[in-house]
Amino acid sequence: MKIINGIEIADNILEDVKNEIIKKNLKVSLAVILAGDDFASKTYVKMKRKKCTLVNINSYLFEYPSSVGENTILDKIDELNNDKNIDAILVQLPLPKHIDEKKIFSKINPSKDVDGFNPINAGKVLLGYDDAIFPCTPIGIITLLKAYKIDITSKHITIVGRSNLVAKPLLIMLIQKKKEFNATVTICHSYTKNLKSITKKADILIVAIGKANFITKDFIKKGSVVIDVGINYIYKNDSTAKIVGDVDFENVKDLCSYITPVPKGVGPMTIAMLLKNTLICHKKNK
Ligand code: NAP
Repeated sequence: MKIINGIEIADNILEDVKNEIIKKNLKVSLAVILAGDDFASKTYVKMKRKKCTLVNINSYLFEYPSSVGENTILDKIDELNNDKNIDAILVQLPLPKHIDEKKIFSKINPSKDVDGFNPINAGKVLLGYDDAIFPCTPIGIITLLKAYKIDITSKHITIVGRSNLVAKPLLIMLIQKKKEFNATVTICHSYTKNLKSITKKADILIVAIGKANFITKDFIKKGSVVIDVGINYIYKNDSTAKIVGDVDFENVKDLCSYITPVPKGVGPMTIAMLLKNTLICHKKNK
């Protein structure tokens, strides 16, 4: 069993982004919109902005209370779309419930759509365009697999979850008729029957459901690769929190050939790909 080191691979990517920015003397900038006071969202935004500083990307935070009107956010996006000093726009999810996510992501200029959630980018991912901006977590997972030379071609990959954020774009990328992909993918969700019998057939199992330690060893095929996307906060009595994945790591690890831990697995890759995408947006806008 080998534990995949997401931090190491993410740091290499951040180093490359930083070196390119310094070498070419680029002025790269990311605007972050944060609405509401979700603890996890605030933590992610803090982490993302800290990494921006590390690689010489200027980040600007636009923070709103959870009561913010949809039009206020749409107007801000309009302003940022037209601002030549802003290369990329990140809208931190989840948004307050009264705000329509689809409207928000449709408004972002596709060349500044750092998360790849605008329908133009989603369509480009679906159709296999080379100039698509790929959503950060799916491209982060694919980059991790490649870094560990884990072959995708002709493998049976099962994804548990069907979110627009992670599972759907990942499915689309993995089945592309391109040399390094060509996987056979099964998607499972909360209506899937006999989940264990399906996950047990997977050469690579990717789990993105948001349920702490849900996947135990009876879901796993011996020798398979397990990628855990989940981030779940387990609160202790002293109100501090521990982060765990969707996979019961200790229970499962000895059955796997490779496994990502939580934290330090997929999470750091998401942030690294965000900064790489910011640089890609910068190039698109120049
Ligand atoms: P999501 O929107 O939270 O949706 C969860 C998905 O899991 C849904 O498709 C749901 O099915 C499915 N599901 C829930 N319970 C299930 C069960 N018992 N059996 C089978 N499927 C089940 O998905 P997400 O946004 O992809 O987030 C998933 C997890 O990944 C969360 O913990 C999130 O915090 C984490 N995440 C981590 C990163 C990272 O960088 N590491 C990035 C993004 C998200 P239905 O569609 O039928 O409801």
